[in-house]
Amino acid sequence: MAQNSSRPVGRHHLHIPGPTPVPDRILRAMDTPIIDHRGPEFAKLAKRCLDGVKTIFKTTNPVIIYTATGTGAWEAALVNTLSPGDKVLVYETGQFSNLWKAMAEKLGLKPEVMASDWRTGADPAKIEARLAEDKNKEIKAVCVLHNETSTGCLSPVNEIRKAIDKANHPALLLVDTISSLASTDYRHDEWGVDVTVGGAQKGLMLPPGMSFNAISDKALAANKTAKLPKAFLAWDEMLNMNKVGFFPYTPATQMLQGLAVAIDMLHEEGLDNVFARHNRLAEATRRAVKAWGFDIICKDPKYYSPTITSVLTPEGVDADAFRALALSNFNVSYGASFGRFAGKMFRIGHLGDINDGDMLGGLAVTEMALTLANIPHKKGGVQAAMDYIASAHAKPSRAAAE
Ligand code: PLP
Repeated sequence: MAQNSSRPVGRHHLHIPGPTPVPDRILRAMDTPIIDHRGPEFAKLAKRCLDGVKTIFKTTNPVIIYTATGTGAWEAALVNTLSPGDKVLVYETGQFSNLWKAMAEKLGLKPEVMASDWRTGADPAKIEARLAEDKNKEIKAVCVLHNETSTGCLSPVNEIRKAIDKANHPALLLVDTISSLASTDYRHDEWGVDVTVGGAQKGLMLPPGMSFNAISDKALAANKTAKLPKAFLAWDEMLNMNKVGFFPYTPATQMLQGLAVAIDMLHEEGLDNVFARHNRLAEATRRAVKAWGFDIICKDPKYYSPTITSVLTPEGVDADAFRALALSNFNVSYGASFGRFAGKMFRIGHLGDINDGDMLGGLAVTEMALTLANIPHKKGGVQAAMDYIASAHAKPSRAAAE
């Protein structure tokens, strides 16, 4: 809420990396009477969602829809494919890879971490080298985040698949796309991913509370012998019920109403246009940040995230105090800092139902807040972003390629 104001005026600038703004059309689709989740109308809705979501993951195999946040789908990917004591290789890209690793440990798996400085994505060559050393094929799965939300680094999933194949290793490839799906190019089948974990509240533009597992044939086969305990998250019962348009339990009917419309909206815009828009907003944001004279956490452009830019604040600046000031004065939210960058960065989310004007508004309040907070910076960040966006619209083909 703006300072000295008794009511929030206009829209909140939601620039956290999810949940993202929910479009009015989706809100209206969710604001409908509850239907019988065992009735024919529901079966039609479920089919629309179950078929439609495959086009977002780019798979022809089943996609499981959970009434759970992304964390539930993380757990589902592990418990449905692995057995107690199995070794899993987790590439440490940041806070969220560490949380997935901690979950694996709690479930009785043996995670081995490939450490990093949190400033790049996962390196396929390092994964290949480690798998090549694993002569007894003890590693049963490789876990990577397509997009590390805590840092804004994107990992090359396609190349990681090739690295696993080059090492001639049978490990499953489990990929978290919670902050990349439906905003960044992703191809479950073509890239040979075994389980893709997705979430509702970012690129899919829905409220939190729904998540996904896209599953390969190899993962389905692994499921037959996986011995970790599972009940609510078990794939088999879900797959059987989904075949006839139902769920084993009462699903989040209103989230499904929203999902059906979200899928329509993504296809109306065109997935490639959605990806180009995210690339454009990401580049505009990075240009603003560089013009202000700040470093981006992701230090190698080849790993730059299309959905999140994490900004390193100058030495001695409390990034969390800056976020609080920006919120109270300008009604803008940025993502919090984590782990090794606690208090030293703020994360700008540029994903979901966000257009050029929304982004420029967010960047403008950021520049004003930097001034208000007396944080030393150069002027001209917003101008740099505007110049880039204008040039991208003048040459759309170049913007799409960047
Ligand atoms: N994985 C990634 C990459 C995330 O960004 C998040 C949440 O932001 C999660 C997992 C956990 O998802 P949730 O908070 O929906 O349980």
